Amino acid sequence: MLKFVTFAVKTQLNVHDLNNEAGAGNVTDIRIMEFLDENGNRIEAPAVSGRMLKHWHYEGMRKLCHKQNLPLCDSCKIGEPVRPATLTTDNKLSHQEAIDEGTVEVIRKCCICDIHGFLAAIGTTSERRSSRAMFSWLMPAISIPSKQVIHSRVKSGKDFQEEALTSQMPFNKSYASGIYAFVSALDVDRVGLVELNIGTATPYAINDNDRKERIKVAIEAYRFMISGQIGASLSHAMPHGNPLEILVAYSESGPLPFPVSPIYSDYISKTVGLMPQNTSLLYWGNATPEGVTKKNTIDEIFKELLTKVG
Ligand SMILES: [Zn+2]
Repeated sequence: MLKFVTFAVKTQLNVHDLNNEAGAGNVTDIRIMEFLDENGNRIEAPAVSGRMLKHWHYEGMRKLCHKQNLPLCDSCKIGEPVRPATLTTDNKLSHQEAIDEGTVEVIRKCCICDIHGFLAAIGTTSERRSSRAMFSWLMPAISIPSKQVIHSRVKSGKDFQEEALTSQMPFNKSYASGIYAFVSALDVDRVGLVELNIGTATPYAINDNDRKERIKVAIEAYRFMISGQIGASLSHAMPHGNPLEILVAYSESGPLPFPVSPIYSDYISKTVGLMPQNTSLLYWGNATPEGVTKKNTIDEIFKELLTKVG
């Protein structure tokens, strides 16, 4: 059975606004990060944080869990970031009540708190679970500088009682384009695992079948991310996405190192050279690299992974 899987994704994203955290006044600017290119030159380019990527993996899982009726705590059900939580009789969320039930119950009751982990420190109680899914920042492999655009609200011609609302209120926003990459790892073997119970008869809080369902949802959520569902402003600036390369490494025997990032041109041969024996490497893209199994579609990669979950 599948124990660990890593993703290295390279995708073209044109005219996106995936991270507009750098806002001031009526200007919303995209976040710019400084980093070194392959020649050691310091460059600046738009980037999206790993927190944002993790959030969109969470959103993908949330949709799939709802569809398949898999358990979610009352926070994760509605996308509330303070989690876990339980809805109390007076219709309020209680973080304390959920935590007081202990880690095993939290895991049983919520796929996302199980897989994405949580950090709860409230009153005298503190519970912590490390995430089974890990994400890099989204970084440019090749970038074009971002461009600011002035938007204004489209007016119907009818007047508002509130005068302040009638002005056109132009505002500036930045959009960026480029070829981007991210890497991610999913520690499949630790889904449902309670670390304190390792060595006992029941190290997992949930049965095998429930574990498999959760693992499949966590894998499927990557499909949304590969399509460009990874950032802010999707309601009006869905990126023009075009996946270019995907390299998946998986193991049925144990944990794997992280793959070399596709922001580097020789990432495939380096990843092949880094992975231990008994690693399966699947590749989709235009190159014909050695040491990997080339797949014709992205779906074929997902199908193989899901088959290995069983
Ligand atoms: Zn939850």
